[in-house]
Amino acid sequence: MAALQRRTFFKLGLAGAALSLFRPAKAGEILSDYSSVETGETVFSPIVISTWNHGIAANAGAWEVLQNGGKSIDAVEKGVMVTESDLTNRSVGIGGMPDRDGHVTLDACIMDEKSRCGSVAFLEGIAHPISVARAVMDTTLHVMIVGAGAKKFALDRGFETIKTPIPEVKAEWKKWRKEHKDEYTKPEINHENHDTIGMLAMDKFGNISGACTTSGWAYKMHGRVGDSPIIGAGLFVDNEIGGAVATGLGEAIIRIAGSHTVVELMRQGFTPQEACKMAVDRILSKHTDLTNLQCCFLAIDKKGNVGSYSVYNGFNYALKTAKAEKMVDAEFNRSW
Ligand code: ASP
Repeated sequence: MAALQRRTFFKLGLAGAALSLFRPAKAGEILSDYSSVETGETVFSPIVISTWNHGIAANAGAWEVLQNGGKSIDAVEKGVMVTESDLTNRSVGIGGMPDRDGHVTLDACIMDEKSRCGSVAFLEGIAHPISVARAVMDTTLHVMIVGAGAKKFALDRGFETIKTPIPEVKAEWKKWRKEHKDEYTKPEINHENHDTIGMLAMDKFGNISGACTTSGWAYKMHGRVGDSPIIGAGLFVDNEIGGAVATGLGEAIIRIAGSHTVVELMRQGFTPQEACKMAVDRILSKHTDLTNLQCCFLAIDKKGNVGSYSVYNGFNYALKTAKAEKMVDAEFNRSW
């Protein structure tokens, strides 16, 4: 071991040597790698993963922090801010789709390696809900602030505000309202328009943090809050074990405390891949009608092993390491 400590060594996981830009990966492949430097200190190779195609740009934002030796908590905040800033994104941030009454209400949460966490829900007109969640974590004794209180908190702290819905989204909503006059109390499940960004990063210290931000389900009932800002549902990190994020039908994810369940299954020794699958299986076991019930989990353990699983096909996630940048299709239980 002493000899090993005297020289830098680099150990790649199973697939590490073969990684290349945008090569399609197999869900659940092992990506952990680390180097041990002369001091004997272990330095981890950073990794960031995030949900859906918008994860590629978000990961690039996070990578700027990670590659400069920054902390995972700063990386995940910066990463998902990229998605929140994209006004063409209809499922995250102020470009997101409104609820049935035409209000864009945003949910976000963040959690670091010390299990510190912050969350905002039902927040309107603030460009970066994730940073408000971070401010809740960093500057208050609370975990979660919602609605008008969250808005006041954000404005008091100088956060940027913007009028929502933005004109393009308002036009879409008006059209929808005309076509769905009679369904006010029966929100449809719009499975095409609810792609939350959930991100998990491990920094060079081996510390894991996560962030999750969304405008939630398009045309949800006014006041509805999904899983995304709920610690344990849309996001959970336990730095001894790993982290998990969720996307999909928030109500089903909340019912099984989804992300917490995934992390607890990893604590019991299951791989991230197995844990994500078991959480999806549990959701399946609690529902008889699976129509449009899409739920997806993405997880990472302390060695940098990644797993993902969804009810239906179509879920993918973005992965970035020093050697790879790619989209990965998740495994799934059934086809649409
Ligand atoms: N989980 C989010 C929600 O229920 C939406 C999504 O990620 O698909 O609000």
